[in-house]
Amino acid sequence: MHNSLKEPVLVLNANFEPLNVCTIRRAMGLIFSDKARMLVNGRGEIHTTHTVFPAPSVIRLDRMIKRPRPKVKLNKQEIFRRDNYACQYCGRSDGELTLDHILPRHLGGSHTWENLVTACRACNHRKGGRRIENAGMPLRQRPKAPSASAQYIFGRYLNSNEEWGTYIEGW
Ligand SMILES: [Zn+2]
Repeated sequence: MHNSLKEPVLVLNANFEPLNVCTIRRAMGLIFSDKARMLVNGRGEIHTTHTVFPAPSVIRLDRMIKRPRPKVKLNKQEIFRRDNYACQYCGRSDGELTLDHILPRHLGGSHTWENLVTACRACNHRKGGRRIENAGMPLRQRPKAPSASAQYIFGRYLNSNEEWGTYIEGW
């Protein structure tokens, strides 16, 4: 079997809205149990002992499922991505990146999109445990939660899954 069953598959709702990303293994399970159909076969074939199946790259659920609009998960990687992998104090993007609490935690700063920015190691060190006003280090832009468009949420997959583009656009 040359296909990894762990490769990503884009799952669309019945109305074609992108829902999430699952593995080929999970997608095949949905197809075999008649819950989804393959829309794009971008992964070649899956060989089992007796049969060969086309491996899906995009599937669509037969039935509409309801769920709230997805949010971008708050974590270090997503903060870096929101900030275009650039230090929000000096603008550099060529060094090691760290996460900075704008208002330090020991001063009551929260772990939120609005209080977290990407900082290079040097700026993070220079700022230390101070407020930005006291450190004299203004931010380049006001941080906020990224909009949860499908383009943003699934964007990081697009480089290696070009065929997903048309299904993600506009959501
Ligand atoms: Zn910096």
